[in-house]
Amino acid sequence: MQGGDARALPSALGLPLPQLLGKEAPLVFLDYDGTLSPIVPRPEDAELSAPMQAVLLQLSRRCPVAVISGRDLADVKARVGISGIGYAGSHGFDFVTADGKEWRHPEADRYVPQLDRLEQALADRLGVIPGAQIERKRYSLSAHFRRVATADLPEFQSAVEEASKAAPGLHHGLGKMVHDFRPDLDWNKGRVLHALRERMRARPAAINVFIGDDRTDEDAFSVLGERDIGVVVGVPAHPTTARYGLRDTIEVKRFLEILLEALARRR
Ligand SMILES: [Mg+2]
Repeated sequence: MQGGDARALPSALGLPLPQLLGKEAPLVFLDYDGTLSPIVPRPEDAELSAPMQAVLLQLSRRCPVAVISGRDLADVKARVGISGIGYAGSHGFDFVTADGKEWRHPEADRYVPQLDRLEQALADRLGVIPGAQIERKRYSLSAHFRRVATADLPEFQSAVEEASKAAPGLHHGLGKMVHDFRPDLDWNKGRVLHALRERMRARPAAINVFIGDDRTDEDAFSVLGERDIGVVVGVPAHPTTARYGLRDTIEVKRFLEILLEALARRR
């Protein structure tokens, strides 16, 4: 699907939510990094603010909510720290539903040895590059270069390319200052959105809201229907198929508050 420039998108803060939602509570799907929590130099420092956590908790009492992240499932679950919502990790290769049912892609385990090999190959090559950081998730791996000096970037780039040859069968994508590797299967954030929706037992009229900021979120925007609300955060370098925009995580919180108000007023 052709995408457009995020700068040209109308702000999601101006949406007439009561009309768009209709009578049904929406299903709310959220990315984590860059959406609920600002992007920080070290991924381990990306914490959820207490006010954002409070809004999510209140929202989860009004409608089904799920966080779909590239992080490890246990990691994103611990960072958000709310029970009663769904979580998907490794870009959707495993998830846990709001009622605690766990799921993993039936073929994902087959790729763990490849991910192990890639992790080892990257550790050997990136260990000498200051600031290079490997983030291993159960079913995916990220090689971060946000803290790598510009002068070291060509070396980082060739190290990643070399290491990826040691582990064929993985999908290699580029996110925000990060190389993402995951099983090369027909599965992504869009597919997992549908899988989670099915398990939320939503009425057909309930619309989907999806908010994300990076390239892998485009897979989710592209499965949204006419009535759904896809929102991109910030101005990504890639073209987007989201129909609305929000400037930053502060505006994401504001949007979720407006959504909460719209849901609260109806009852
Ligand atoms: Mg993100």
